[in-house]
Amino acid sequence: MVQPSGNIYIVIAPSGAGKTTLVSALLAVDPAVQLSVSYTTRAPREGEVEGTHYHFVGREQFLAMIEAGDFLEYAEVYGNYYGTSAAWLREKLAEGRDILLEIDWQGAEQVRRLFDGVITIFIAPPSINELERRLRGRATDSEEVIQRRLAEARSEVDRAALYDYIVVNDDIERAKQDLISIIRAERLHGTKQMLRYRDALSRMGSQG
Ligand code: 5GP
Repeated sequence: MVQPSGNIYIVIAPSGAGKTTLVSALLAVDPAVQLSVSYTTRAPREGEVEGTHYHFVGREQFLAMIEAGDFLEYAEVYGNYYGTSAAWLREKLAEGRDILLEIDWQGAEQVRRLFDGVITIFIAPPSINELERRLRGRATDSEEVIQRRLAEARSEVDRAALYDYIVVNDDIERAKQDLISIIRAERLHGTKQMLRYRDALSRMGSQG
C-alpha cells in the first residue's frame, strides 16, 4: 500500500445531501485542497460546466478508458458510469497535495484498498423528507430517478458507520465549519506533521 504525504479525503453523500455546497465552501477557504474532477457518462445538468463539475464523455469512450486502465476507480451509479482519473491523482500525490474525491461508496472502497490513511467523510441529510424536498427542488430529475435516488440514499445512510467522520447537514453554516475543521485537524495529525517538520522539530529537541 502507498502512504501518500498529502491526505486523500473522500466525501460520500447521498444525492441531495448538500455535498456540492459544502465542498465549494471548503475549497473557498482552503485552496490547498485539490478537487478531483471525475469522468461521467451522465448528461450535464443545467449549469454544469465541462471540466469544472465533470468531464462528460460518451459510454464508448468511458469503456475504452476502463480498458486502457485510465481510472483509479470507477463505478456505475444510477445507470451511469463515474470514474476518477488515475493519472491526475498520481500527479497530485507526487506533488504532495491534499486531494478531495467526491465519489460514491463503491469508489471509496476501491480507493481505501489502494492507499493507506484515506480519510472518509459522510455527509448525512437531516432527514429523508428533507432529502426528498431537495431532490424535487432541483426539478431536473424524473419521478423514477427521484425514487431511485431516495432508495439509494437510504442504503447509503445504512453504511454511515463505516466512515471516519459524519457531518449532518441540518444547519448549513455549522456543517461547513465541521467539514473545514475535519480537513484542518487531519492535516495537523502528528504523523503528517512529522513528515513536514521532522528537521525543524529535531533541531528544537534535546538533540538539536
Ligand atoms: P451526480 O450524478 O449526482 O453528480 O452523482 C451521482 C453519484 O456519483 C454521487 O454519489 C457521486 O458522489 C458519485 N460520483 C461522482 N463522481 C464519481 C467518481 O468518479 N467515482 C465514483 N465511484 N462515484 C462518483
